[in-house]
Amino acid sequence: GARTIMEFEFATVTRIIFGPGSVEKAPSIAGQIGDRALLVIGSDAERTKSLRQRLLKRGIRVTSFQVMGEPTLDLVIEGVARARKAGCEIVVAMGGGSVLDTGKAIAALLTNRGNLLDYLEVVGGGQQLARPSAPCIAIPTTSGTGAEVTRNAVLGVPEKRVKVSMRSHFMLPSVAVVDPTLTYSMPPSITASTGLDALTQLLEAFVCNRPNPLTDGICREGLMRAARSLYRAFVDGRDAAAREEMAVASLFGGLALANAKLGAVHGIAGPLCGMFPAPHGVICGRFLPWVLEANIRALQQREPASPILARYDEVARMLTGDAEALAEDGIKWVKRLCEELRLPSLREFGLDQTDFSLVVANSRRASSMQGNPIALTDEELMRILQKAF
Ligand code: NAD
Repeated sequence: GARTIMEFEFATVTRIIFGPGSVEKAPSIAGQIGDRALLVIGSDAERTKSLRQRLLKRGIRVTSFQVMGEPTLDLVIEGVARARKAGCEIVVAMGGGSVLDTGKAIAALLTNRGNLLDYLEVVGGGQQLARPSAPCIAIPTTSGTGAEVTRNAVLGVPEKRVKVSMRSHFMLPSVAVVDPTLTYSMPPSITASTGLDALTQLLEAFVCNRPNPLTDGICREGLMRAARSLYRAFVDGRDAAAREEMAVASLFGGLALANAKLGAVHGIAGPLCGMFPAPHGVICGRFLPWVLEANIRALQQREPASPILARYDEVARMLTGDAEALAEDGIKWVKRLCEELRLPSLREFGLDQTDFSLVVANSRRASSMQGNPIALTDEELMRILQKAF
């Protein structure tokens, strides 16, 4: 059939440094940029102790800022104040997606005037950042979000029960240092939920309505690795090969989502995460099979000529490793994986059926939903929620 003219853009960080032990390179990179750093860390300060010491050894003045859970607006505002007071010119963030997003948001506000609210979609002024962020080195310790190479930060507004994104090309960190050995300490439950986030991001970017050849290649490489290695990393957190493949899958998911689109899983997960304290990855895993099913069915019924249907077959082949697999086999594979990973039920997080219509309404407006390969009806979205519940 007729093809549209291809147009795309691909933006990422200036340097990606990948490999076991690569975290040791971060201090010298930081030292080339500045000599006062805000070190953003997660709930376990032990994990970043040696990085802190190495930074100090290079003569860098370090001010630490700890992130105990998923970031909120207040937390970011506090971090910016801390960094300003100490005259920090560089942000080094080492931790899960929560820590990386906090670091990215702080780096953006260090160089841009005004309040955080000015730059937020939905709850704020939706203004664009005018200036590049302060230099930021992002060092992930989970294999899930790929936030080290994405251009948004997800921030919670607890009093409004929503999560919103700060989005800009300027939010891309300067350097991503991906050291798979940092992920060895993740317990199986966190390996599972973060790994499902990576898998979902790769899958949604591959079947979205705005893919490009660059993200396609990245998604294929990432999907095959996540399919081979997620369960292995869950069973044995010290399986170096599995951890390495998951770190690649997570990084590739970030590269893909920052340059293609996502879909209904993230469209639903966004609003839902703001309302219930379930980990982002658990929500992704719980919704993925049902969104796959709904999308494939809707395409078969309403757009049977869509080239995206063949992509679902390709996904099934990549996930199962079976050259004969069809879309339905991919759905079965994902369902089985979620069982093997002993993913908790959404009921455990207090999700209530009476909230479903609000979730449907909010997910329609979510930016990820605009990338779904086909527009789902309210009835279809409601059925997905009921099944995942
Ligand atoms: P997280 O950062 O919230 O961390 C989850 C838990 O794992 C925390 O308790 C943390 O202390 C712990 N942890 C982290 N690294 C560990 C390690 N090596 N060993 C042991 N424990 C470890 O989880 P996440 O899934 O990485 O990030 C989730 C956040 O990222 C959410 O706020 C989500 O909305 C956001 N997100 C952002 C993007 C983006 O592009 N910016 C994409 C997807 C999700």
